[in-house]
Amino acid sequence: MPTAPSPVVTSPTTLDAYRDGLSASDLFDSRESSQVGLTYGDFVILPDHIDFGVEAVELACPLTRTITLKTPFASSPMDTVTEAPMAIAMALHGGIGFIHYNNTVEEQAEHVRQVKRYKNGFITAPLTLSPNHTVADIDAIKEKHGFSGVPITENGTMNSKLLGMVTSRDVDFLTDRSKPLHEVMTTDLTVGHEPCTLEAANQILKTSKKGKLPIINAAGELVALISRDDLKKNRDFPLASKDANKQLLVGAAIGTRQADCERLDALVEAGVDVVILDSSQGDSIYQLDMITYAKKHYPQLQIIGGNVVTSYQAERLITAGVDGLRIGMGVGSICTTQEVMAVGRPQATAVYHTSQLARRMGVPVMADGGVSTMGHIMKALAVGGSVVMMGSMLAGTNETPGEYFYQDGIRLKKYRGMGSSEAMKKNSASRYFSDSERIRVAQGVSGAVMDKGSLHQYLPYLIQGVKHGLQDMGCRSVSILHERLASGQLRFERRSPAAQQEGGVHSLHSYEKSMI
Ligand code: GDP
Ligand code: 5GP
Repeated sequence: MPTAPSPVVTSPTTLDAYRDGLSASDLFDSRESSQVGLTYGDFVILPDHIDFGVEAVELACPLTRTITLKTPFASSPMDTVTEAPMAIAMALHGGIGFIHYNNTVEEQAEHVRQVKRYKNGFITAPLTLSPNHTVADIDAIKEKHGFSGVPITENGTMNSKLLGMVTSRDVDFLTDRSKPLHEVMTTDLTVGHEPCTLEAANQILKTSKKGKLPIINAAGELVALISRDDLKKNRDFPLASKDANKQLLVGAAIGTRQADCERLDALVEAGVDVVILDSSQGDSIYQLDMITYAKKHYPQLQIIGGNVVTSYQAERLITAGVDGLRIGMGVGSICTTQEVMAVGRPQATAVYHTSQLARRMGVPVMADGGVSTMGHIMKALAVGGSVVMMGSMLAGTNETPGEYFYQDGIRLKKYRGMGSSEAMKKNSASRYFSDSERIRVAQGVSGAVMDKGSLHQYLPYLIQGVKHGLQDMGCRSVSILHERLASGQLRFERRSPAAQQEGGVHSLHSYEKSMI
């Protein structure tokens, strides 16, 4: 009869001697590994003991020397990703949005102002019409944006005298759609007066039984709108990223040209909290000059430099005075830099090496680009990223600029690289050092992504997923994860092509993938 093998006792008997996998330094620094750059798909993280519930996991992480976010997410400064609605949603869920600069200085500053002006539940830039617009204009708003409650002001804009409201009930059964709005609008209005708290507005809406409450100032001008639906949703955002005045945090990107000094001045005036110096190759004399200018004129303003991918580049920007770094070159989903310029670096290696140096110099790094699954977010954090910047993951949500369209029966939204020829035609060539050249070389493509619905559902899903990931690694917080990364306790393993295949869905005839 077979007997169980008796345990073999060898020395040393400590658990460490049996620890599986590799430390990060073995994974990225060993002679064999350092000959190849690794990216997120190339390795996996080994699980560790769990002695806490998922709700105990803490996601706070530094974005810059002085700004800490409650969730490690940033939205990319791209013209198909971040304007005010995205930046507001990101900040409400504890992350931050960076307003793109493929627009005029005034347009970009206005997006920053909108985020700073945002108050939970207040629509600070509602669509408005004038009394001479027609019912057909209401129809157009309804079709394009899905709502029909439109304030009517004297000259059809915000901060102009409020004259009436038009809601679907005013126009539903009218056959003549060319009628001017002054003939159909409701003028017997219930309004809130500035300053007005959300609780007070809620109370007025409850007693008046109205669907919309315009808020006016002492001169009778429209300053905001409140929708009953929003109050019913009773949005509460305990994680919201806020400044000392309880206003949402917002970032913005600028280039490194002379004209960007003026842009910086306008952004600071509008209340921006942190500015990204946006270059695809950030280790340049232009960026160093811009850091000097920004730090001289606005010493308190947080500046993120980049993009860089080597320790040498990172050290130069940190020494010049940046408060945070943005890491990634040629890894974005829409990007063709590595193909066209033959420069860049696989993202996990880039984040690991730069973060090691930056940590010693007291500056956090943001892993930018190449994130297309929740697992990639986990891996970006596990190799030293403090915050993860995303473009394609967030593109296609309701809060991105642009309209949905259908192709082959699928609801899509445009997503394009800022170095694509389409975006450069608009403005953004300077990021890729192409603005003064007659022949431009594109470093990105223009494409489409599927509708992802509202960020108010999507971000909580990402937050919960990252918490589960940290729990599986046995880490209660991102800072513990980073301590274990540094001490070698966090263990990694390379994945062979067969292991990568095994790690994905396989061997099924068909399957359905659902977000929740
Ligand atoms: P309506 O009754 O058809 O006007 O629309 P709902 O009240 O059902 O929905 C309006 C939704 O759109 C709310 O969640 C608002 O916060 C949101 N919204 C965003 N911008 C605007 C805007 O400019 N005007 C209006 N009326 N709603 C807006
Ligand atoms: P994604 O999250 O889509 O993988 O990558 C987004 C990142 O790609 C952006 O934050 C930015 O750093 C980078 N990026 C945006 N547009 C372009 C482009 O046209 N070319 C290149 N090379 N990178 C881009």
